[in-house]
Amino acid sequence: MSLFLCPICKQPLEQEPNRYVCPTGHSYDIASAGYVHLLPANQKNSLLPGDDKRMAAARNRFLNGGWYQPLRDAIAQIVAVRLPEGGVLFDSGCGEGYYTAGAAQLLRDCGKKAQIYGIDISKFSLRWAAKRDRSIAFAVASAYHLPLPDTSVDVLVNCFSPMAAEEFSRVVKPGGWLLYVVPAPRHLWEMKCVLYDRPYENREQRIDYPGFGNETVTRIDYSTHLPDQQTIQDLFGMTPYVWKTPKEGAARLAQLDALDTQISFDLHLFEREG
Ligand SMILES: [Zn+2]
Repeated sequence: MSLFLCPICKQPLEQEPNRYVCPTGHSYDIASAGYVHLLPANQKNSLLPGDDKRMAAARNRFLNGGWYQPLRDAIAQIVAVRLPEGGVLFDSGCGEGYYTAGAAQLLRDCGKKAQIYGIDISKFSLRWAAKRDRSIAFAVASAYHLPLPDTSVDVLVNCFSPMAAEEFSRVVKPGGWLLYVVPAPRHLWEMKCVLYDRPYENREQRIDYPGFGNETVTRIDYSTHLPDQQTIQDLFGMTPYVWKTPKEGAARLAQLDALDTQISFDLHLFEREG
């Protein structure tokens, strides 16, 4: 039995070889790429929600380059420590499944059994994700309407994705964990110095989320060398700066052959109270 719920009637979905089906008979085909579409039309905000094909491909290329490997390892470590044997790991806004698959691999290496799920609003991202690891169940769905039962998740990972705190507190079991990954103040500082005349640091996030407590923060901080313009542009395209950089700044970045920049993330781990 899959944990996924029918987005129409909220009953459990049974996984068959090529589709998921609920007791009422609502049926959801598994795409040949390996993911299932569980996003009802009324939860789509646009015709093509989420990142487009080109952005997903660029991000996948960048992630496969290994520039964020230390973050991937850190997330996998925390998951492997916190997830109970046979537990449920859920990645909300999993994108290309890079971090999800990293955690899945470490769990296999440790010999720890797990059920692993990931959702994203972008089917273009999920095409990469499903290819990356066939053992993970990926679905197109909204973080604000998770296709999961109450108190069903042991560890929920949210890496740079919308913080749907209310939904997360609904699905995470009491005593379970929420891992929320955000850019730290000096993330990509040197890139921002190229883009902006007066760059500013990211604001440090300390927010209380109802239902979650016992917060610990781990900072992952290192410097990296981006060796060519393609890699620089792939990374730039993953950032929110791509939407709000003055022309001159983007032109300066486009002239670089290489860039040394700081990479810095904060991993906020919360325990579900109850
Ligand atoms: Zn149904």
